[in-house]
Amino acid sequence: MKKILIASIIMVFSGPAMAQFGDFLNKLPGNVKNLAEGAKNLVDKTKEIDEPKEIALGQEFAASLLGAKPLVNDPALQRYVNTLGRWLALQTERPDLPWTFGVLDDVGFNAFATPGGNIFVTRGLLARMRSESELAGVLAHEIAHVLRKHHLNAMRNTGGMGVFADLAASQLKWDANLKTFAANAFKDMYAKGLDKSDEYEADRIGVVIAARAGFDPYGLPAVIQTLQSQSAQDGNFSLLFETHPSPADRLDSLDKVMRTRFDSSNGSQGRSFEERVKEFSR
Ligand SMILES: [Zn+2]
Repeated sequence: MKKILIASIIMVFSGPAMAQFGDFLNKLPGNVKNLAEGAKNLVDKTKEIDEPKEIALGQEFAASLLGAKPLVNDPALQRYVNTLGRWLALQTERPDLPWTFGVLDDVGFNAFATPGGNIFVTRGLLARMRSESELAGVLAHEIAHVLRKHHLNAMRNTGGMGVFADLAASQLKWDANLKTFAANAFKDMYAKGLDKSDEYEADRIGVVIAARAGFDPYGLPAVIQTLQSQSAQDGNFSLLFETHPSPADRLDSLDKVMRTRFDSSNGSQGRSFEERVKEFSR
């Protein structure tokens, strides 16, 4: 009941109605008033993180990722993955973010996103893609994390969001502390991973984005099936297994949505990597 009340208060009072919040609070009985104030604070904290701040935080995360693993030195490959990624991002409700896609020189199998639209896949992941629709599915899953601000959500769960909102509220604090804050938040987030329910959501949104972009939406489930055949003890896969729900649970959750929505899909498998990279080196 409390949850429903908070949710409806957030829905009513985000947006221009926010200004009338004070009046509304004064008319409420005590216990409901406390709840409503809590909800207002929650809305305020989220509102303080505007898009430029979201992007700035993401750039710090991206710098940390690139500090750990450099980009593969293959301009044609990087151009190709960027073009594919941006095409997918164009099909979403946030096409104007500074979307940037890169291939990290790492034999492990992984993909990462940062707030604001930086997305990386590893060389080891690319090597195991059997079709362009599979890569499209992986990129679309990462794009979904950015669209739904899942990293900010993970920070909220660890209490980091309050600190970030405090930084965001003061330019002085922001300038002095963003790098340290981001470095700490980064370690936490990329070792522990995101909320499990956000992973399922990214799978569901990812298949829709891939389909909108003209690809076979079954590319992503096919990648998760590949994962299912790997051992969680294999060093190339262990980080991904630690930070995501089990492949079986992900397939199960996708199956429920896809059976009703994508039965008659005729999306494309896309071209082969060899052809694409050749195309992009011209
Ligand atoms: Zn994910």
